[in-house]
Order: sequence, then C-alpha cells, then structure tokens
Amino acid sequence: MASEAVRVVVRCRPPSEREKALGCRAVVSTDSARGQCCIHNPGAAGQPPKQFTFDGAYGGGHSTEQIYNDIAYPLVEGVTEGYNGTIFAYGQTGSGKSFTMQGITDPPPQKGIIPRAFEHIFESVQCAENTKFLVRVSYLEIYTEDIRDLLGADTKQKLELKEHPEKGVYVKGLSLHTVHNVAQCERIMETGWRNRAVGYTLMNKDSSRSHSIFTINMEIYAVDERGEDHLRAAKLNLVDLAGSERQSKTGATGERLKEATKINLSLSALGNVISALVDGRCKHIPYRDSKLTRLLQDSLGGNTKTLMVACLSPADNNYDESLSTLRYANRAKNIKNKPHINEDPKDALLREYQEEIRKLKAILAEQMNTNNVSVGLLPAETTQLELKPALLPDFQPDVEAEKQLIREEYEARLAQLKADYEAEQESRARLEEDINTMRTSYNLKLSSLEENLRKEADAVLRVETLPDQAPLSSGLVVTITETEQVSNKDTAEPQIAQYIGSVTRETPGAEVAVAAEEVQVAVDKQQVLARLHMLEQQVVGGEQAKNKDLKEKHKHRKKYADERKKQLVAALQKFDEDSSDWVLLNVYDSIQEEVLAKSKLLEKMQKKLKAAETEIKDLQSEFELEKIDYLATIRRQERDCLLFQQLLDQVQPLIRRDCNYSNLDKIKCESIWDEDSGCWKLPELVIQKTSLPAAVPSLPQTKPARKSSSGEDGELLMIGSHVQSLQSRRL
Ligand code: ADP
Ligand code: MG
Repeated sequence: MASEAVRVVVRCRPPSEREKALGCRAVVSTDSARGQCCIHNPGAAGQPPKQFTFDGAYGGGHSTEQIYNDIAYPLVEGVTEGYNGTIFAYGQTGSGKSFTMQGITDPPPQKGIIPRAFEHIFESVQCAENTKFLVRVSYLEIYTEDIRDLLGADTKQKLELKEHPEKGVYVKGLSLHTVHNVAQCERIMETGWRNRAVGYTLMNKDSSRSHSIFTINMEIYAVDERGEDHLRAAKLNLVDLAGSERQSKTGATGERLKEATKINLSLSALGNVISALVDGRCKHIPYRDSKLTRLLQDSLGGNTKTLMVACLSPADNNYDESLSTLRYANRAKNIKNKPHINEDPKDALLREYQEEIRKLKAILAEQMNTNNVSVGLLPAETTQLELKPALLPDFQPDVEAEKQLIREEYEARLAQLKADYEAEQESRARLEEDINTMRTSYNLKLSSLEENLRKEADAVLRVETLPDQAPLSSGLVVTITETEQVSNKDTAEPQIAQYIGSVTRETPGAEVAVAAEEVQVAVDKQQVLARLHMLEQQVVGGEQAKNKDLKEKHKHRKKYADERKKQLVAALQKFDEDSSDWVLLNVYDSIQEEVLAKSKLLEKMQKKLKAAETEIKDLQSEFELEKIDYLATIRRQERDCLLFQQLLDQVQPLIRRDCNYSNLDKIKCESIWDEDSGCWKLPELVIQKTSLPAAVPSLPQTKPARKSSSGEDGELLMIGSHVQSLQSRRL
C-alpha cells in the first residue's frame, strides 16, 4: 500500500488591531511560490531568520479560497472517491484557526474550509455519473476531555469513546444527520457552532477553548463501465483545535487555568503522537493518552489523507508561540499515512437498505402471485420500474400523482357503484359486468401510463447503466418511519375495510372478493411507492450529470490543484539546486577561482552551523519553558490531591464501620481504572446488616428503634448503654 505524507501548510494572518495598537513588529514572512516561511527572533537582531518549508505558505494577502484550491481540493475530492480525509487547523488562540475552518461570508473568498468542503462535495455528487451517495454529518466538541454532541438533543451530555474491531474508534450515541444540499449543511454547521463552549482569555475575547470535529460521512454506490457495482465509504474530518498557547501567557486563573491545563494535555498528547510517529525507533504510539488523539488516530499514521493548516500571528510578541507552531508543523509533515479506498464497508447503511429491498421485493412478488395481479389491477412488469426510483429522479413524483388520481377515481367509482347497487338491487351479473368494465378501463389507463414511464426510463437507462436491482432503491424502505407507515394506512385501510365488509356481506360473489383483495394489493403497492419516494429524498447523486459547464468547471479545479503542486515542486527543486553544494561538481579554470568558490562554500557552511547552534539553544529553552509549565501543573495537582486526602482523613472516622467504605485503603485496592469512560470504577457501597441479640428483660427500657443513616438497611435496635455509645460513635 502506497504511503503519503501528511500535508502541511502555514497561514500567517494580517496584524490585528490590538497588535497594531501595541506597536508590534511583524516577525513572520512567507514565500508562497516556494512554500517557505521565515521567522526572525525579535530578541536577537543579528541572527539569521529560521526558515521552514511546507506544502504551502500563505500570508495576510491570501484568501481561504486560494488555500482550498491549492491544497484542500484534491483531499476533499478523494473523499468523494472513497478515501478518508482530515483537515485540521493548529495554532495559538487568535491565530486564525476558526477563520480558516469556519471563515466569514464577506468577502466571499474568505469563506472557510468547512463550507467550501460542503459546496465541493455536493458539486462532485451532482456531477457524478452512475453513482449515488448517502451523506450524513456529525459535529462534536472535546471540551476539557469531555465529548459532547453539538447537534444532539442534549448538548451538555458527555459521550463515551468506544472501540470496535472493524469500525475502529467511535463516539457512542453521536447523532448523524442526513443532508441533501449545501444549505442544509450550513444550517447544521451554524447550529453546532453556536453550541461550542467559548471562554475569555487575554489573547482573544471569544476564543474557543474546545476542540471541535465536524465530520462528513459518505456512502458511495457506483456502477463501473463493466456494469459492476461498488460500495464505498469515506469520511472527512474537519477539525478546529483549541489554542496551543501556554497557560502562563493567557493570564488564566481558577477554572480557566484548569481548562487550559486539560487543553494543553490533549494538545501535547497530539504532539507526542506526532513525535512518536516521526521518530522511527518508537514502537508505541501514545494515541490513548487523550480523546483527541484517539479520535484522530486514523488521521495520524493511518488510513487517511491528512492536511494540517498551521496558523500564525505575525507579531513579535507571539514569537515563541509562532516558532513552536512552526516546529510542530515541521514535525507533522514527516508523518506517513497509508490512505486507501474503503471498499465494501461492513456497516454500510446502504447495504442494510439493499437487504431490506430484497425482502420487500420478495413479499411483493409473492403477493402478486397469490393475487394473480399480473393480469389484474397492477401489471407485474411495472414493479421493476417502480423499484428503481433513483433512476427516475425528475418525473417520478408526477407519475405518482397521476397514479394516485387514477386510483382515487377507481375508488370513487367503486363506492358509487356500491351505492347504485344497494339502491337499485340490480342483479349480480350486472354488477360483475360493471366491475369488469371498470377494471378493464383502469388497466388500460394504468398500462398506458406505465408504457410512457417505461419509455422515459429506457431513455434514462441508456445514459445510466445501473443494474435492475439497484440497491439504493431499498434505502427508502428502511428510512420510512413507523408513524409514516401508520398514516398511510390510516387513510387507505378504512376505505378498504368498509368496502370489503359491505360487499362480502351483501354480495358474497367470488369476483367481488377478488376485487377487494386487489384493492388491498393496490394500497400495499402505494405504500411501497411512498417508501421508494422517501429513498429518493435520502440518496443524492447525478442531478447535474448532464450539466457540461459544471462538469468542466469541476475538472478544471482538479487540474489546477495538480498543476499548483507541480509548480511548487519545480520551484523548490530550483531553490535546492541554487543553494546546493554546486562547488563540488565544478571544474575550476584557475586556483583563484577555486579558492573563491570554496570560501563562499565555507561561509555558507559557517552560517548553517550557526543556525544549527541557535536551533539547539532555542529548543533547549523551549523544553525549559515546557518543563516549567509541567512542573507548575504537577505542583497544583499535588496540592489538589493533598486537599482531597486531608478531607478524607477528616471524614473517614465518621463513616460507619459496617459500611465497606470505612476501610478506604481496601476500597483503593479494589478500584479499577476504566479507560473508556476515563474514570475509576469504584466498588459498590455496601452496608452489612448487624444482627444483635434479642432484648433481655432485666435490662433497662430499650430505646425506640432508629433508622440507620443510609435508611436502607432496616432498623437497628439499640440495646444497653454500651451498644448505644458504640452506635453514637459510628453515626
Ligand atoms: P482562533 O480560532 O485561532 O482562536 P480566530 O480565527 O478566531 O482565531 O481569529 C482571530 C481574529 O483574527 C478574528 O477576528 C479573525 O477575524 C481574524 N483573522 C484571522 N485570520 C485572518 C485572516 N487571514 N485575515 C483576516 N483576519 C483574520
Ligand atoms: Mg477559534
């Protein structure tokens, strides 16, 4: 399996009003043509800038549109083909992560990556030929190591992470929402966005303190040129991380400080995972250290195409953070992933739909055989067409309406006929004749309608080569809710029941009974059609398959991204050649020439050496700062632990002896850490019943019975002053 590196781009935002007001200098510069980013140390003017090379580098003048077209486009396109994709924004608070992911609507080029991905996905879906998609989205937040569903009924509820041997890591109970167009996706994104937890820090007054993951899940059913069908699944994770800054800088206190510690914990877990992946000697990758890394496990070193957007502030007062972000990004670009198309997903909903339709078809076929419908009310050959509503997206609703009209007319006439029959008490033979005439006319109308339908379907079939048993059709069958089924029956069945009741009672002729059964079949058919119509609403794809302009635009965007990549590689190659050790390959005409060239080389090497030395010093001071942070966290946690220990020591004597929690050391030994829920599983609280000897008459009057403190273990009889004093010590 071919591996590909995690792609990394940097984006440096323009200076903010606050930075301008503070008179900050810009220390970050980008070279978009070569994907390079330089950072100058404001504290060491003479030092050369540090230079980093990425898959793209964007400055204040660049738009999200350009970033998307250059690098995100091929990744998202891959998702529509069955590859998993992840795009995440990393950087300190206020550096532009949300601006990049979520974006703003005005000016339009600054629309974020998430809404652009919606537009892109639906453009691909609509242009696709012979392919149908089931698109579902979810939106979650990890806030202080708790997972919450931003689109759930209760956004405060904490969700658990689970691991499945086939599905991998997933969030239990996370809501999935089927979407059919861009507008729906945008509405959902806004709802979730409003539910995100935001806090206040010195850096950005509405900065997000949580990590959020918007996921677009796709199931893809495609038929290739040879008529073979393929079921694929892919997901696109769009991740907006919380700020990466150190707690000391944010001025956070109290709850905010605790929050920052937890946020930093999951981010450092992310950093450790990246380091472990890049360091070839590391066997153990610490994915399990945080919820974020567990959820992104596949995106880092796994089956996913991953893009990281490292966001920077240009200001000198953020130098440390910007440098740390650049180092982080520089490490990430060395991660190797192994993306592959996810064929035949085990848990695909479309497969379940397929199974359902197979059963439904069998029931229908059986029903038609027993009722001999092929020559009756509903010709058998119509079934095949009706079971392929996905093939007939445009005209199917009209056909439905027309069929409904014919049916209504049929039912009205039947009712009329019955009334006439009752009124005139005509002979059975005449009634049969009327029914027969009417049925023939119904059949005629229906078959002429079906004929038209077939002609149109044939036309569609010439373009689309989906097989007869299109499994997508089955989706509708399952998606219909019970209430919908009931409401269908509500309107149709009383009429049939009425009809059957009256005819069988008054005219128990075989013909009429058959007609009644046929009406029942017609109603069942109606329900099936309604279900199929529901499927149309669930599945999308191919709506613009004939729109040449759109397809052309789509192709052009694909080509643009490829060309841009080639340009970048060429520019980098040229740069490498220019700065390479060309001197070694040259043949010199004279000694002077050689001395000159070698002096130049020496100078260059000395510069490199100096840069490497500065790098070592920088790294050491960065580690030092991190160490200070960690030690501060450990000290605070030790103080917290001590407080709890002292509280326990204080209250332990008050715990009654017959309760298992009176022996805390034993309880500690029996407690088990649960990785999934991230908390301790404590032994059940048990109170052992104390049975005391029966009252002795010679003793003074017994005290009235008292309830135990828990109120669960019944009543304890106090006998004698010794027992009483014992009891009062315990309670
Ligand atoms: P983060 O999510 O990293 O905390 P935001 O995305 O909220 O930061 O950005 C902080 C501020 O900077 C916002 O007011 C945003 O509009 C502005 N900003 C960020 N990036 C850019 C950019 N590339 N161009 C213009 N303004 C930007
Ligand atoms: Mg943000």
